[in-house]
Amino acid sequence: MKYCQQCGRELIDDAAICIGCGSTIGALKKALDNRINIGFCILSFFMPLFGIVYWAVVSGWAPKRARACGITAIVSIVISFVVTLILIVMFVGWLVEYANSYEYLYYGYQ
Ligand SMILES: [Zn+2]
Repeated sequence: MKYCQQCGRELIDDAAICIGCGSTIGALKKALDNRINIGFCILSFFMPLFGIVYWAVVSGWAPKRARACGITAIVSIVISFVVTLILIVMFVGWLVEYANSYEYLYYGYQ
């Protein structure tokens, strides 16, 4: 016999939901736990390190949910990298423009 982990009530063998407390069991619980969690995805976007760690830790029992967080974290890292690169290119462009400008040629850097 199986027993509910939440309330301890006896369960029939292929039960998906406990009739005592309503908590999900076995395959149904697994499927629900594995659903993509938008909150964790948003967290992974703003804290990519969290997403990577979550992916590594949770992939064993909730691979789909873990992968969604990991992919979000990687997308976030790529976006940060591209934005940083664009800012650097803009800054270098501005420096070159300034160096070639009238003011610089006459007065030097100031
Ligand atoms: Zn129960």
